[in-house]
Amino acid sequence: MHDCIFCKIIAGELPSKKLYEDDRVLAFYDIHPAAPVHFLVVPKAHIVSAAELNHETESVVGHMFTVIARVTKALGISDYRVCNNCGEGAGQVVFHLHFHVLSGAPFRQKCLL
Ligand code: AMP
Ligand code: ZN
Repeated sequence: MHDCIFCKIIAGELPSKKLYEDDRVLAFYDIHPAAPVHFLVVPKAHIVSAAELNHETESVVGHMFTVIARVTKALGISDYRVCNNCGEGAGQVVFHLHFHVLSGAPFRQKCLL
């Protein structure tokens, strides 16, 4: 087991406010929301960052976007932003691949987080 917060959430060892779960992906609310709606979508496989994706793992990214489409529809959200921080210098703090999904903010800038 990786010493990873998101792996612990996936394993049920840490609590989360789950929005969606299947065999490959988990979606849950961000603990420190940066917008009125802010949730995270993570693969169940421990992939460190977007930079670590390869031909074997790439299909999960398409699935993550399908899950985002499904969850946002379920929440009644039509306008939202998907962000990924890749690497410490870009603001990545948790080194398990995740997409931030943000909605309900003015979104005047191209970059929110
Ligand atoms: P990043 O800076 O892209 O690595 O984003 C990590 C995100 O994970 C931040 O927005 C944190 O607020 C969020 N986060 C950290 N720990 C938890 C947790 N236990 N439950 C939900 N979100 C978390
Ligand atoms: Zn992990």
